[in-house]
Amino acid sequence: MSAPKPITIVGGGLAGLTLGIGLRQRDVPVTIWEAGQYPRHRVCGEFISGNGQAVLARLGMLQPFENAGAFHARTAMFICGANRSPVRLLHSPALCLSRYAMDALLAEAFQKLEGALHVNSRWTSDQFGEGTVLAAGRRASASENGRRWFGIKAHVSRVSRVSLEADLEMHSTAAGYVGVNRVNGGEVNVCGLLSTRPGHHQPASKPDWLRGEAGSLLRERLDGVQFEPDSFCSVAGLSLKPQRAASKQECCLGDALTMTPPVTGNGMSMAFEAAELACEPLADYSRGKTDWAQARKQIARRLDAAFSRRLAWARFLQWMMISPALQTRFGPMLLRSEWVWNLMFTRTR
Ligand SMILES: Cc1cc2nc3c(=O)[nH]c(=O)nc-3n(C[C@H](O)[C@H](O)[C@H](O)COP(=O)(O)OP(=O)(O)OC[C@H]3O[C@@H](n4cnc5c(N)ncnc54)[C@H](O)[C@@H]3O)c2cc1C
Repeated sequence: MSAPKPITIVGGGLAGLTLGIGLRQRDVPVTIWEAGQYPRHRVCGEFISGNGQAVLARLGMLQPFENAGAFHARTAMFICGANRSPVRLLHSPALCLSRYAMDALLAEAFQKLEGALHVNSRWTSDQFGEGTVLAAGRRASASENGRRWFGIKAHVSRVSRVSLEADLEMHSTAAGYVGVNRVNGGEVNVCGLLSTRPGHHQPASKPDWLRGEAGSLLRERLDGVQFEPDSFCSVAGLSLKPQRAASKQECCLGDALTMTPPVTGNGMSMAFEAAELACEPLADYSRGKTDWAQARKQIARRLDAAFSRRLAWARFLQWMMISPALQTRFGPMLLRSEWVWNLMFTRTR
């Protein structure tokens, strides 16, 4: 029997690390190249909702997340100006754990399985040949529909009290939206998907972007709270345009393929799910049962079948979230609609 062929993964974020763990559990030799290090804060709502939790359980990672104190979010509420949705029960609880803890736990698990992890090691080649998987996160885009999208995240210091009516509050603002939710350790995550447009007023600092407009409920919630200075992070040039895996030359997973709008709270889940879907075809390639072209095609088919419809609905929800209709007389109707609420959960997961 010949030795298993190695797999190289570019990017040690959620997709890359979960793929690495899944492959090591199948005895495939894996090397991950990661540009950064662990632990580190990442721009993210830190709200794992949907199928991703089952993937984590199958990988044996749910318990370590629970042990790290992950918070179970059970309710959510949407706010747009004077319009508010009722506080609603989530279809199933979401798991909220800081990326600071999450990525480090995954990296540790991968290394315990004797995966090779190169931190502070950026992959500089634009070649992703045989046996190489691209899981390097978002594709950069200067602007989309005249808006330049970026994300900012910070944790509210434990010494400040934030009173929330729901475990997740999603506040729509003129620049985008800001989610406020509880995470592990009693901290509160404040994370915004925001945009700049030529000729529009721009807040002066990152905290000001997150605090929202004067007179808003968001501003009221965050009035006088202190953010943890070390937890601030930002990411620019976000593209929310869905892509099909079948149209790509490389084997791409997670945000490297396509980024689902954060309002769905499902990007992390999609990264975990994508990694699981890619595991068997990559293991078959490693054992010589298929060639690289077949493995890549099989992964692309699996990803498109799992995500295309979900991404299309997510794009519709993103459009609704930033649409002026939410601010006008349709707002109360949309926010109170059970149909929209159910759509949000059933169609995007
Ligand atoms: C504002 C905002 C809020 C969000 N909120 C949520 C939420 O609440 N719930 C949810 O499920 N999802 C959320 N998401 C989406 C979620 O964060 C992503 O979908 C998820 O992180 C994707 O995982 P990934 O592994 O594909 O990418 P990442 O987690 O970004 O990992 C990519 C990794 O690749 C590394 N890398 C990049 N280039 C190279 C290179 N050349 N060489 C080596 N390494 C490289 C990076 O350092 C990084 O560690 C949010 C996103 C944004 C922008």
